[in-house]
Amino acid sequence: MATIQSATGPIESDDLGLTLMHEHVYVGWAAMLHEYPDRFDWETIRATAVDRLREAAGAGVRTIVDCTPIGLGREATLIRDAAAESGMQIIAPTGLYYQLPFYFSNRPTETIAELLVSDIVDGIGDSGVRAGVIKCATEPEMDRMNERVLRASAQAHRRTGVPIVTHTYPANRTGLDQQRVFKEEGADLGRIVIGHSDDTDDLSYLEEIIENGSYCGMDRIGIQAPRTSEQRADMVAALVEKGYADRVTLSHDASGWFDFTAEQERLRERAPTWRWTYIPEEFSVLLRERGVSDDDIKQMTTANPRAIFSQADAY
Ligand SMILES: [Zn+2]
Repeated sequence: MATIQSATGPIESDDLGLTLMHEHVYVGWAAMLHEYPDRFDWETIRATAVDRLREAAGAGVRTIVDCTPIGLGREATLIRDAAAESGMQIIAPTGLYYQLPFYFSNRPTETIAELLVSDIVDGIGDSGVRAGVIKCATEPEMDRMNERVLRASAQAHRRTGVPIVTHTYPANRTGLDQQRVFKEEGADLGRIVIGHSDDTDDLSYLEEIIENGSYCGMDRIGIQAPRTSEQRADMVAALVEKGYADRVTLSHDASGWFDFTAEQERLRERAPTWRWTYIPEEFSVLLRERGVSDDDIKQMTTANPRAIFSQADAY
């Protein structure tokens, strides 16, 4: 067991419960927030996120790991307030997305690592929120700049013990590129979730990620492209069948408010399975139909997140 930081204060890893390892309270674009603050109705955004968090709690979800990178709408105060109001335990993120922000173009990689460490150790701005997870991403391929982000993420991970959850582009097998860089930085791959692994139909690629020691984040469940829910369930069942239930996490990559569109309500109609209740309420049924046991489901949704966050020591 370990004490970890949630957006509303420290919690014990044993109390994580059913945990969604890759979600977003809010997704948007930092420059819009910064330069056009009047275009944002935070009351409505927060209230909508809180409603959705309460829905999730009603379906048995106890913890949400927010994987929003800096610049993509990671608003620590919003995450904190939504957690407090809904009662959901939320782990707040630090980390950069796949494109290295120009700010760091001519600054050393060490500056990125320092920033991430500061979010984890001192807190994000004056929000009082300490980050509890590091997010990084590689799409469509790893380039020199992206490699710097991955190295800084691994360095911050080792200095703080906070786990890494990634975004990949499995069609280019970028999870393996990430693992190579993390390993070069001395990171323990068993403390890293290689995300979006359910976007592929290549079982051997996922086996390679697991054999290298990482968790496969099957974390776009409910998004019907490029793989349907049935296809994603087939793949999870295939991994369980191979004995890998202890190396898989489940999540939706869904949002409390998704600001890449002006039509929140229509989005829900168009993508009705893209929500935080889908795994406990419906996807679990698809898994059971494929021979995945309740114990396996609990392993993937509860025991594995607990194991990931229990390894909290710096090294
Ligand atoms: Zn995501």
